[in-house]
Amino acid sequence: MRYLLGFVTCSLLVLGTLKAQTPKNSSATDIYHAIEKLNFLGTALFIAAHPDDENTRLIAYLANNVKARTAYLSLTRGDGGQNLIGPELRELLGVLRTQELLAARRVDGGEQFFSRANDFGYSKQPGETLEIWNKEAILGDVVRTIRKFKPDVIINRFDHRTPGTTHGHHTSSAMLSFEAFDLANDANAYPEQLKMTDTWQPKRLFFNTSWWFYGSQEKFKAADKTNLLHMDVGTYYPMLGKSNNEIASLASSQHLCQGFGRLSTRGSEDEYIELLKGDLPEDKSNIFDGIDTTWKRVDGGEPIGDILYKVQENFNFKDPTVHIPELLKAYNLLQGISDVHWKELKTEELSAIIFAISGLHLEAFTQTAYTNPGQEVEVNVKALNRSNIDIKLKSVFINDQKVAIDNEALKNNNLVTKKVDLNIPSATDYTSPYWLIEKGTLGTYKVSNTDLIGKPETPRAFYAKFLVNIYGTLIPITRPVVYKYAKPDKGEIYQPFEIVPEATASFADKVLIFADASSKKVPVTIKAHQDSISGTIALGYGKGWKLDTDTQPFSIAKKGDEQTVYFTLSPPSTENESSISPIIKVNGKEITKELVTIAYDHVPTQTVLLPSEAKVVRLNIQKAGENIGYIMGAGDEVPTSLEQIGYNVQLIDPSTITKESLNKYDAVVLGIRAYNVVDELKFKQRFILDYAKNGGTVIVQYNTASRWGAQFENIAPYDIEISRDRVTNENSEVNIIAKDHSLVHFPNEIDENDFNGWVQERGLYFPNKWSKEFTPILEMHDEGEEASKGSLLISSYGKGYYIYTGLSFFRELPVGVPGAYKLFSNMLSVGKEKVETKVKIKG
Ligand SMILES: [Zn+2]
Repeated sequence: MRYLLGFVTCSLLVLGTLKAQTPKNSSATDIYHAIEKLNFLGTALFIAAHPDDENTRLIAYLANNVKARTAYLSLTRGDGGQNLIGPELRELLGVLRTQELLAARRVDGGEQFFSRANDFGYSKQPGETLEIWNKEAILGDVVRTIRKFKPDVIINRFDHRTPGTTHGHHTSSAMLSFEAFDLANDANAYPEQLKMTDTWQPKRLFFNTSWWFYGSQEKFKAADKTNLLHMDVGTYYPMLGKSNNEIASLASSQHLCQGFGRLSTRGSEDEYIELLKGDLPEDKSNIFDGIDTTWKRVDGGEPIGDILYKVQENFNFKDPTVHIPELLKAYNLLQGISDVHWKELKTEELSAIIFAISGLHLEAFTQTAYTNPGQEVEVNVKALNRSNIDIKLKSVFINDQKVAIDNEALKNNNLVTKKVDLNIPSATDYTSPYWLIEKGTLGTYKVSNTDLIGKPETPRAFYAKFLVNIYGTLIPITRPVVYKYAKPDKGEIYQPFEIVPEATASFADKVLIFADASSKKVPVTIKAHQDSISGTIALGYGKGWKLDTDTQPFSIAKKGDEQTVYFTLSPPSTENESSISPIIKVNGKEITKELVTIAYDHVPTQTVLLPSEAKVVRLNIQKAGENIGYIMGAGDEVPTSLEQIGYNVQLIDPSTITKESLNKYDAVVLGIRAYNVVDELKFKQRFILDYAKNGGTVIVQYNTASRWGAQFENIAPYDIEISRDRVTNENSEVNIIAKDHSLVHFPNEIDENDFNGWVQERGLYFPNKWSKEFTPILEMHDEGEEASKGSLLISSYGKGYYIYTGLSFFRELPVGVPGAYKLFSNMLSVGKEKVETKVKIKG
């Protein structure tokens, strides 16, 4: 790196579940731990594909036992996963999982990086992954991270040699790392990056293996381990009062939206890593063996090391301030070295240690969570020296605005408070995750500002820059301007301070289904982010659609309050897919974004600006039956979707199911993974099957085989075996094999076109064996694989019907895929053609 940040932006590592915005207090042991890390000049990078792929045991071990600077490069932000704690999916889930990774790193002591790769969904082969990701771009991101972070050792979570045995993203992460290891040092590779950083050659590349990759513990025991390093990562840290495994478990437990909250493990634990590139260390328990990790590796570092090793050796836990003169000497020597990388890094660490020893508390906070460009906001600046050290505050700037402080002496325990009215320039960018600002592709986020690539989050817009004079040495430090407040039921809370538009608008439903020609009232909710705001709102809409009025006025008195206006939207006469989007006009500005807030206790609150949009779909859909009972499984939006096409859907509490209670329904649907997550069903399954036998229709959506459990061997009235078969390509060809079955004719005619426009996948966990009573309806397969007929199975049972389907209706219905609606309507209507009360639905 040829540029200097100039100001320290980060503080001491402290173990514990701190939010990023909360000021850190460091005990003497924390400070000692930081000095140990200051004196270890080795760097390790762990590489995998998703949030939660990382081995927190190994990261915690490297960061806390070896004391190495350690980071995790997660190629994706986990946008494609599921969310067990809230409604965020896709990009918003990626924002949440990014913060969960940062929370995990605050616990295990690592740092966090990302590439521009989007977690677009499951892929079986790395070839498919790399095509969708744009291999050149993502490989470049890995190269860039290596060049900037300058790791001595790289550890892959996955094996680059075994494509097809795990998620394509996993193998791809290892393949890209394998290639990038050499490319990072090749000046001809990605030369544009060399304006901002230098080439770099890591010394060793490893694969973090385990017995699992060998098939069994026995096979692993017998395997040749010449190239394997072995570490016991169960080590206990008396200074921290925790074992490495406890730290690792706590870090993993930050992945709450993945349901990773777990018990701590304790005791000895073996970790193996296999050498892929570089020389084999002599000491096979030390990945840095033979690599100089002392101050001697830095030109001019030796005299700095002489001072700092002594401080470490003689550390005074009762009164660490005695070390300040020596630390300042080292600080001044450090400013004279020419190696910018180490100078910047170690200056940051050393400054943080000096400030921690002084008990120096510096902060700048607002009393509002957000404001708009062009506004003024009051910022409180507080400075406190909690030691006898001679400290003066030379100056404080918030961005370029000077705070009225001039060489003010900070006397022991005397709080200095200043207030400043900060002007927010009208050109200030709105706060939002940088990778979501431009429209990317399915596989890659678009980031025009290449400086940001790799960073976990958007740098804050406003920083307080403190210039501190300690015994004549000037040390700069920055703190983000934060929002601080107290909640009676939670205590003191620090939150990011955000810049948002004056007003934003959103639709309650992201997809509106028009089942026939009737018009619908569309509510649009405007939220004010400024007091006493008024303007107009219009709706953009597509050809063939009609609105009752072009624009409507709005007026909102208080910031944070909302107003809902209604437009009446009429669909075209024939089937059609389009979108609508609100346009707010206020103060001469046009705003088309919606503001989403992601707030949880375990991560800092996030605000995300997204294009505000709703999909509108005109269908021509028929249905039979009215009343649907829905037993929710792991959570899906299918009930809302069915209501959109006119069904009356009731959620059924499984504990209330009795012999007769289901009889009032025309069909009973089980939500995704119901048998995996709803224990109560094992007692109620007989009633559900009896309901079918007596003339009802039971539809079971996908469950996973792994947690099937013996108690559910009667999940269906006849034998059925769930496999791991899935069809991940959402465009793969679908053949209707039961051409005469009423399921593809009544009340809607289904043909191959109804499988156009599906998203993410066809389906998952298809049965691969079933009893002869079942009729398979469809056939489909991914490229190069055998056809699966298990995606949609139906059997009659007594007077009724039983349907098992692994088709991903839970993904298709919420995004308004017409064919998926028609097929689902047919499933609900099965057997009802005999009934005279066939009704055409109303919108
Ligand atoms: Zn993964």
